[in-house]
Amino acid sequence: MNGRALVIGGGIAGVSAAYALAPHFDVILLERESTLAYHTTGRSAAQYIENYGVPAVRALTRASHGFLSDPPDDLADHPLLSPCAVMMIARPDQTQQLEAALIAEGGGAEMKRLEPKDALELCPILRPEYLGGALLEEDGADIDVAALHQAFVRGIRKHGGEIRTDAGVSSLEATTGGWRAASSGDVVEADLVINAGGAWGDQIAGLAGIPPVGLVPKRRTAFMVTAPAGLEDSPMIVDIDEQFYFKRDGQQILCSPAEEVPSEPCDARPREIDIAIAIDRINDATTLGIRSVKSSWTGLRTFVADQAPVVGEAPDHPGFFWLVGQGGTGIQTAASLGSVMAALVTGTRLPEGIGPEVIDDISPHRLFRTPREATP
Ligand SMILES: Cc1cc2nc3c(=O)[nH]c(=O)nc-3n(C[C@H](O)[C@H](O)[C@H](O)COP(=O)(O)OP(=O)(O)OC[C@H]3O[C@@H](n4cnc5c(N)ncnc54)[C@H](O)[C@@H]3O)c2cc1C
Repeated sequence: MNGRALVIGGGIAGVSAAYALAPHFDVILLERESTLAYHTTGRSAAQYIENYGVPAVRALTRASHGFLSDPPDDLADHPLLSPCAVMMIARPDQTQQLEAALIAEGGGAEMKRLEPKDALELCPILRPEYLGGALLEEDGADIDVAALHQAFVRGIRKHGGEIRTDAGVSSLEATTGGWRAASSGDVVEADLVINAGGAWGDQIAGLAGIPPVGLVPKRRTAFMVTAPAGLEDSPMIVDIDEQFYFKRDGQQILCSPAEEVPSEPCDARPREIDIAIAIDRINDATTLGIRSVKSSWTGLRTFVADQAPVVGEAPDHPGFFWLVGQGGTGIQTAASLGSVMAALVTGTRLPEGIGPEVIDDISPHRLFRTPREATP
């Protein structure tokens, strides 16, 4: 063992890092809530899409595929992905955006350009007059988020790691050669700290006097409506300008206005106006005729300005590691991000498919460079 690692936050980021570090460190994970995955991790759309996000995110998504499709037998008893293609649709006035998305494809799963009639065959509830064209990512998938989270938790426990809930970190200070945190009346000493606090990441750094990386939590709402018959094999449908999306989920359809409204870190709640906007847009595009909603929720997707995650040691604060800013892709990138974190901490090999350019793109150092340093 290399010493003790304190992981703050029990969402998907915290458990993935704790899992990857557990073979090397005596790991302790502290979560403020009484259950793990209560915040953004428990509120996602659970989708795997390779052609989504900035290049570093796409590489991290591809590098997570192996774990998701074939997790270790002792951690999950079934694959964590099940097929769910993704179809990006465009109105006649949006077809240029389809071409732009095809150009940005770069290295991910293949995207096929579809004529409206082919798109209608795949999703018969779309209105023919609404459609100008579509793009299909056939290799999209639904992620079993609860099983993925549980797989990491099992892995942590298997290696003797400790997980505490109702254990919010209320103070954090550097000591000689390590860190000391106060949590629910206990003091935890560790050699290094992983900040996986999601929307609260900058606040956690602030406890130790470490400068923020500029995290902006952004609201995103989702809600469920009853699914009509005949939609069993439909792909997830995403507006090419991400103004709404919907996907089949058992007997229901998960819908979202795909809003990105900045928020304070908080336990976000849905607003009626966002749901009404989504219903309007989805009813325009489809024959669903949504009139009532079965359940709804809102989560915070947290970004820095360049939309890449922030992963690595804080400049000038040895032993404090950031693992934040996963935005809308923290589930599909969790497996590789956990491995990247362990590789950076232990100096061991990066996961397959993750090169130094990705590490530069996600390094916290990039956010503190002066403009002169940033320009070659
Ligand atoms: C509507 C919606 C749809 C999404 N769809 C997808 C999708 O399809 N695919 C995908 O990959 N991603 C998706 N995402 C994004 C994904 O859910 C997030 O990127 C991911 O869950 C972030 O995980 P996290 O662990 O960083 O954050 P969180 O799950 O929020 O975990 C952070 C944890 O830190 C804890 N914490 C904070 N402060 C402290 C403290 N002081 N002490 C102890 N603990 C603390 C919090 O209580 C929290 O549990 C979606 C998000 C939303 C909202």
